[in-house]
Amino acid sequence: MTAVEKAEIVPGAVLVINAGSSSLKYQLVDPVTEQVYADGLAERIGEPSGGAVKHEAAGRKREIEVILPDHRAAIAQVVELLREDGIDLADAALAAVGHRVVHGGRSFHAPSVIDDRVRSEIERIAPLAPLHNPPNLVGIDAVSALLPDVPPVAVFDTAFFHNLPEEAATYAIDAETARKYAIRRYGFHGTSHQYVSLRAAEFLGRPDDEVNQIVLHLGNGASASAIRGGRPIDTSMGMTPLEGLVMGTRTGDIDPGIAFQLARVGEMTIDDIDRLYNKRSGLKGLSGDNDFRSILERVAAGDAAATLAYKVYLHRLRHYIGAYMIELGRVDAIVFTAGVGENAAQVRADALTDLGAYGIEIDPERNAERTDQVRRISTDAAAIAVLVVPTNEELEIARQSAAVVADL
Ligand code: ADP
Repeated sequence: MTAVEKAEIVPGAVLVINAGSSSLKYQLVDPVTEQVYADGLAERIGEPSGGAVKHEAAGRKREIEVILPDHRAAIAQVVELLREDGIDLADAALAAVGHRVVHGGRSFHAPSVIDDRVRSEIERIAPLAPLHNPPNLVGIDAVSALLPDVPPVAVFDTAFFHNLPEEAATYAIDAETARKYAIRRYGFHGTSHQYVSLRAAEFLGRPDDEVNQIVLHLGNGASASAIRGGRPIDTSMGMTPLEGLVMGTRTGDIDPGIAFQLARVGEMTIDDIDRLYNKRSGLKGLSGDNDFRSILERVAAGDAAATLAYKVYLHRLRHYIGAYMIELGRVDAIVFTAGVGENAAQVRADALTDLGAYGIEIDPERNAERTDQVRRISTDAAAIAVLVVPTNEELEIARQSAAVVADL
């Protein structure tokens, strides 16, 4: 995303924050004009050897090396960088600060202004996402301390999937145990699936509630969803973001019994298995690489491990596409998004190869085109429109945050 060459901020902009355990992504964007004033990433927060901020605003890109003891220091650094660019956040008449919060549990189905009650509830459900929600809260507290007058809003990654049909949301496990531990399918990447599905319907020139679509969010994390008339009826991520598609470093679906074998025979602890499943699996576990560009280069060069990883990735992806076609019954569009989905023409072609009998046919020239515009890559004759829709979670978070504040 390129930040514009203009420092003067129109009232109503939103500061979007995505805080991870040692990183903080931010974007200052106008939710109406879509103008991006600033965009950046603070990394290696809390590392004694030092962190860094990659920052783009007012038409220039900078990267500074700086020690960032905690998230508050990172935010203070961002505020200072913006000030140097002529942007004073305290005077900018921001509509809101929009925080990405990964897990909303059963409590949150819509963006929420963060008051004491909402903050405590996010904290209460943190055990559902121990790697994600605690850093999100740290980000919320850090920004609120520096910008106390701007309303903070939480936009939940799970919210779009809040009303999945019960047969899709329920795991076949002892019902009492499931209730006690809040075990169900929650789904993630919801902001992206929602944004992309709306853009796809708009591109097709049809009301969102008339379009049935399969959205494939293929980034480092990856998820698929089946959306009937604007409402998700299934999604591949589950209780946690581990389930479903093969990802950069995560397993996706595996036999739950594998954990028993690793614990009993491999003498691995729960934390060992957690790290294995989350960090040393997926494409990286199979091939040593989780960057899809390298995987594709290695496949082209005939590398056996990368080829197997690629085949396993595609096998799972096609499995979900097939399942969601049957669940939806009628499919109007299949939509690719995120880093791999938007850029890797070969993945799109291979994922949908030989499906002419189902009304799916990719036009190779359209597929090869490189642009960041929404586009159709299927042939005109094909019954199902295959689209590439660049996702923009920051813009969607900004829009939802501004809307909830306007309703106050
Ligand atoms: P994240 O889940 O971290 O937000 P992204 O949506 O940015 O991830 O996607 C990251 C993935 O996209 C990486 O695997 C990267 O290799 C892949 N990717 C980015 N550009 C290309 C490209 N031109 N061709 C193939 N893969 C790409």
